[in-house]
Formats: sequence, C-alpha cells, structure tokens
Amino acid sequence: MNIVGLPALIDTYENYIWILYEADKAWVVDPGESIQVIDFLKQNKLNLQAILITHTHFDHINGVPALKETFPEAVVYGPAKNQHRTIETGLSHGDVIALTTNFSLAVFDTPGHTANHISFYNEQALFCGDTLFTAGCGLVLGGTAEEFSQSIIKLRDLPDSTPFYCAHEYTADNLKFALLVEPGNEQLQQRAKQPLFDYPQIHKGPLSTLGEEKNTNPFMRFDDPTIKTELMKRGATDSPTSLFKTLREWKDQFDQQA
Ligand SMILES: [Zn+2]
Repeated sequence: MNIVGLPALIDTYENYIWILYEADKAWVVDPGESIQVIDFLKQNKLNLQAILITHTHFDHINGVPALKETFPEAVVYGPAKNQHRTIETGLSHGDVIALTTNFSLAVFDTPGHTANHISFYNEQALFCGDTLFTAGCGLVLGGTAEEFSQSIIKLRDLPDSTPFYCAHEYTADNLKFALLVEPGNEQLQQRAKQPLFDYPQIHKGPLSTLGEEKNTNPFMRFDDPTIKTELMKRGATDSPTSLFKTLREWKDQFDQQA
C-alpha cells in the first residue's frame, strides 16, 4: 500500500490529507479540501473507494461533498457516536475495514480532542487524526482530559514500529514546547536537530513512528517520572487525567505567548 500526505488549508491549519493507494484503487483520510485530492487521483488514474473520517471538524470533512460528486461510489466512514450527517457508515471500537485482501484497518475509539474521535490502525499505519501530532497532541475541543489521557494510554500499547500519520504539520512548534517540558531528554534533543519536513510539499510515507513519539512526545510521556515531577510542581495530582490536563493547559499557555 502506498501512502502520501497532501497538504491542505496550508495558510491556516496546515492539514495533511492522507491518500492510500494500490493498483487503480485509492482511499482518503480526513479530506478537509477536495481540489488537490481530485487532481492527485485523476493524475494517477485512481478510483476512490472510500473516505475515512476520524472526526467531523470542518478541516477534516469539507472536501467530502465534492469528492462524492466526482466519485459517487466512495463510501464515507466515520464515528458512529453522535453520527454526523456527512458520515454514511458509522464505525465503533473493534470494527475493521478491509481496503484490500491484505490491508485492513481496525477502528479505535480515541475520544478527547472531540467526544467521538476515532483512529484507524494496522501494523503498517496509524491514522490518529487530531489525537496525537508529531511531538504534540490536539486541543481538548469537546472531549475531556480524562478521555484524552485514556486514549493516549491505549495508543501507547501499540508497537513502537507502527508508522505514524497525523492530520496536521505542527512539528516545529511542538518540538519547542517538548524541549521546554523535558530539556534533558537526549532522544528529543536529537529529534529537534533533524531537518524539518518542507511543508507544504506532498509527504511520502509516515511522519514518524509510534516509538519515536513514545520516546520524545511529551503528551505520550505525561506520566514519565521527570515530566510528572514538573507537572506536580504546576499543581497536578498523580492521576493520568490531572497530569494530562496540566500538561495540555501548559501548552495552551505556551501557544498564547508564541
Ligand atoms: Zn479537529
């Protein structure tokens, strides 16, 4: 399976729309726009089979109507909970979508960013939408800190080798905050020295691996002893919800000052 990220909403939200394709078939994840998706599909003579939605914020679904017009056969999958009118087939935790005979994606409930956010996973790819970003995580916009921390704990159980695909390119800003939280993390220091991806180019392949995120993303490490000590100085109690909430609020303040 080939996977590329098409940049979308490049001057504002810096999204990635992920296209999976094999032979003459394609699938798209979170199309917040449609023009570049339709261009890519036509240039590569691909027929769109399905549209996979992690959550129904406009920057993840606004491209759906135009895609449906061009590819009426494509099925729109997305969260079954509080099912949005855009979604044709609702998905819940444990559902599996077979894209080809040897490439299926399992559905994980990952609420927190919104109350009904889902992620798509197999050993070759994790599409986690706005739950986790490279070196960061999404805002709490409808879900709760408790849900968010439990979703991260759930994703942390997946193998380190899992290729990581999120919905926005916020790496530079996220790495600055990560270094503020955990200046002594050597793997993080190394990561911050790597050249940044030249967004808005088309991204080929994964943005990172889940292992790299586990080792360097503070939001995957909110209960790591060093970070925990720092968060408890900032008023957190020793619970996943409180630690996550305190870290997320710290990042919100950091973003306001930037
Ligand atoms: Zn969102």
